[in-house]
Amino acid sequence: MTDGNQRVAVVSGAARGIGAAIAKRLASDGLAVAVLDLDESACGDTVAAVRDAGGRALAIGADVSDEAGVEAAVARIADELGAPTVVVNNAGITRDNLLFKMSVDDWDAVMNVHLRGAFLLTRAVQKYMVEQKWGRIVNLSSISALGNRGQVNYSAAKAGMQGLTKTLALELGPFGVTANAIAPGFIATEMTAATAERLGVSFEDFMEAAAAETPVRRVGLPADIAHTASFLISEGAGFVSGQVIYVAGGPKD
Ligand code: NAP
Repeated sequence: MTDGNQRVAVVSGAARGIGAAIAKRLASDGLAVAVLDLDESACGDTVAAVRDAGGRALAIGADVSDEAGVEAAVARIADELGAPTVVVNNAGITRDNLLFKMSVDDWDAVMNVHLRGAFLLTRAVQKYMVEQKWGRIVNLSSISALGNRGQVNYSAAKAGMQGLTKTLALELGPFGVTANAIAPGFIATEMTAATAERLGVSFEDFMEAAAAETPVRRVGLPADIAHTASFLISEGAGFVSGQVIYVAGGPKD
């Protein structure tokens, strides 16, 4: 089924966690959603949830840091779902270590997925946005952009996402395209569970400590980020651009 009036979104890293929640939320908002992740078969649960709720979704396997793979993925999305005019650059990894122990591979891996990945996917999608004179770009930053011990690679990448966002807003604004970043605080996903494991604490204790330091006294959930993404991609948010929204249960600078 195709619907000429239905917006088409691409959400990277949407097999699980925040990306899966965003994909499902955008589908319930009425968009068709390309569920993109490294492993196409891992996208099955997200796609099934969207389809079970009556939406349209397509599983796409691609590494966002691979130029040819991204170009082919976006061409397939345009062919099978329709021209994509919403992109959510959510795919991410952590390779934490203190500077003196951080390898060049760990630096490069994080830069490649977050920054090169967002650059490649946005570049591939922008031509459809410009053609339609309408588009929405949402980039996942983090409170780590403000600095976080043991994450020199990740915090640099997440600060980079903010600069990328502001420049995209400047360049693409004249074509009806907005670009904004969401900077989440602690969100309960496999990424934070893996951090707890690396630090040798239980995920429950880790979350309890994070909640105690958060003004609203709880950790974030993927749905908190999906709700913000839903607002930013909405038709009514066309005058909100170049912003970084901290979704962290309290204020951040
Ligand atoms: P997650 O549970 O680890 O999910 C990330 C997804 O991205 C995974 O499905 C992963 O696939 C996929 N991915 C990794 N590398 C990729 C690549 N090269 N190409 C395509 N997909 C790739 O992470 P999350 O917690 O949902 O985080 C989502 C985003 O929010 C990330 O950008 C993260 O940095 C950001 N964020 C998270 C938090 C938090 O507290 N959780 C806070 C601030 C910001 P594989 O499983 O195959 O690796």
